[in-house]
Amino acid sequence: MPSRNALVFIGISVIILVSCAAIYAYWQLSANAAMPAESGETLFQVAMFNVFSMGNFDGFFTFGELAKHGDFGIGTFDGLDGEMVALNGVFYQVPYSGQVLTANYSMKTPYATVTFFEPDQTIHIAGPVNYAELQMRIDESLPSDSAIYAVKVSGTFGYAKTRSVPAQTEPYPTLAEVVKNQSTFTFANISATAVGFWFPRSMEGVDYVGFHLHLVTDDHLGGGHLLECIVSNVTVELDQTNRYTLVLP
Ligand SMILES: [Zn+2]
Repeated sequence: MPSRNALVFIGISVIILVSCAAIYAYWQLSANAAMPAESGETLFQVAMFNVFSMGNFDGFFTFGELAKHGDFGIGTFDGLDGEMVALNGVFYQVPYSGQVLTANYSMKTPYATVTFFEPDQTIHIAGPVNYAELQMRIDESLPSDSAIYAVKVSGTFGYAKTRSVPAQTEPYPTLAEVVKNQSTFTFANISATAVGFWFPRSMEGVDYVGFHLHLVTDDHLGGGHLLECIVSNVTVELDQTNRYTLVLP
């Protein structure tokens, strides 16, 4: 038979243990409330577009780090070595040659925008519509002109024209200068996905105002910065994003 003292000791120990667990649980809840986990509602951006486009092409943020902040987005590589398309957590590189590669996590980016894609609106467009008409149709569906939208267009591209840019070395020219020597690629009747964002006018300079989409074909053999297209039977998914994180070099 345990003594009365032993029973009191066990009783007090249980009370202390339960109290500690309660305090820990409360502390965890408060910590979570104070700092929400990054979700599909956060747009994560590496570098301001205007600063980047003036010729700040040195990569400073690894794709390994970038992957922690999004599985969907666009950007470029160290030295402006091609167009980046992130889709379903894979970071594709479309270099000047057009031969699509998969980026590894040790590579760095000087500019990128990513989010965890969780669509909250879907539009079907029968088409055929060209890029300007497509943008107009999506524009009409945006619930607010002050939020950021992640935009995903998937389906048949009867025609698509994309570009990539040649890798640069220092001293870097401006993006506008580089684009004069871009390579372009045309595609006919492909299944593909256009990935990108719509930024409100109020964020001019921070990012590219309006639509900025990069394309990757479903067979992952082609893509680039989308210049022109004609689409039919496409699904447009929109992910409204009200939180924004910007990382400066
Ligand atoms: Zn682009």
